[in-house]
Amino acid sequence: MSSEEIKDIGERIAKASRELYNNGLVKGTSGNISARVPSTETFLIKPSGARMGFLKPEELVLVDLQGKKVSGELDVSLETPMHAAIYRARSDVHAIVHTHPPTATAFGIAKTAILPLQIEMFMLFPNGIPVVPFIAPGSKALAEAVQKKIADYDAVVLENHGIVTVGETIEAACDLNEMVEEAAKIQLLVTQLAGADAVNLARLKQKFKTENPVE
Ligand SMILES: [Zn+2]
Repeated sequence: MSSEEIKDIGERIAKASRELYNNGLVKGTSGNISARVPSTETFLIKPSGARMGFLKPEELVLVDLQGKKVSGELDVSLETPMHAAIYRARSDVHAIVHTHPPTATAFGIAKTAILPLQIEMFMLFPNGIPVVPFIAPGSKALAEAVQKKIADYDAVVLENHGIVTVGETIEAACDLNEMVEEAAKIQLLVTQLAGADAVNLARLKQKFKTENPVE
């Protein structure tokens, strides 16, 4: 991996962070983002206390898959153990985004899974997005709980906390993050309009599998 390629990953992380901030998925210093450095056992992660909207590529911290800092001047993000645990469990995952968007976070607090009520969302997360019960942020226990759940899902909601999404690229992990918040907003509206009975995963699967497939 050349320093040019690492620089490119850093720039993409900074750009993606800015977009997440501008789109309201994170506020202040909350949230974090990381991406693997290909062909190595390391990843780049946002430092602790940095603001996603103003992240500089040179501020990113290089960390190994045990979550130990390899290089960088600043301290690693609080959620580094969670990021490392996900990379250890999922070799297909190359980027992780953790945010606190209001609607999806509210679903976590209500202990309600987010469902893909819209067809394109169904294609992205056909089994919905489960809620991981509350565990203290930054803890080893949270890292283990998320690692276990993320084995079967690309997105999870953390109760009373926020959401985590993963992807094969930085951009894919970010798009999924935004899509989860969008799905939560739609589900909230549908529930208000038609009641909780209108939101049912089994019926949704039946409908999308029996009607005309999307091209
Ligand atoms: Zn958080």
